[in-house]
Amino acid sequence: MRRREDGWDGAAAGPAKLVDRLRGSVIAIFAAIVRIPTMVRPLCVAPHDVLRTPAQPVRLFTKEIRLLVHDLIETMYANNGIGLAAPQVGCSIQAFVVNPSAQRGREVVVINPRLDASRGRAAIVEGCLSLPNIWERVKRAARVRVSGQDARGKPLTVEADGLLAIVLQHEFDHLQGRLLIDRLSWFRRRHLRRGTDGCG
Ligand SMILES: [Zn+2]
Repeated sequence: MRRREDGWDGAAAGPAKLVDRLRGSVIAIFAAIVRIPTMVRPLCVAPHDVLRTPAQPVRLFTKEIRLLVHDLIETMYANNGIGLAAPQVGCSIQAFVVNPSAQRGREVVVINPRLDASRGRAAIVEGCLSLPNIWERVKRAARVRVSGQDARGKPLTVEADGLLAIVLQHEFDHLQGRLLIDRLSWFRRRHLRRGTDGCG
């Protein structure tokens, strides 16, 4: 999911605290010492088959999976994102990273996610790194509980509201082969298709 340039979502997170900046620095230094070869991967944009393909579950938590997660994080930051799913870099596997705060070290990595519960209603204007120039108000649940595994296969559960809940649902959709435009009205989708040939 793309960060809004008017600062609305960044403002929600508040300024970076010293402890968060230090945590981000420690992680960066650790990555340099152990030489984790991260790289920014090219993004897949619509229309691309991988964005419309349900992603495969991760069975083995290999070094390659951990490298992919590092690359997802770097690619998300390099593109001013607050969330990124593996299909968006061409890997059709069930993995995504989110971080609405933009403070390094606060990324949430979810592999093989399940949407266990959702409550309430929310709607904000969303952008997607795979849909350039599209910003649309999308209706979603206000609160969610997502469970899955971290990059090493350890079970995790995330309970979220606010922007984190929205980003979790946006990235979860990517793993089902769904894009934010699928959640718009028929009339709105038709209007967008006229302006962005092939994005529907
Ligand atoms: Zn997206």
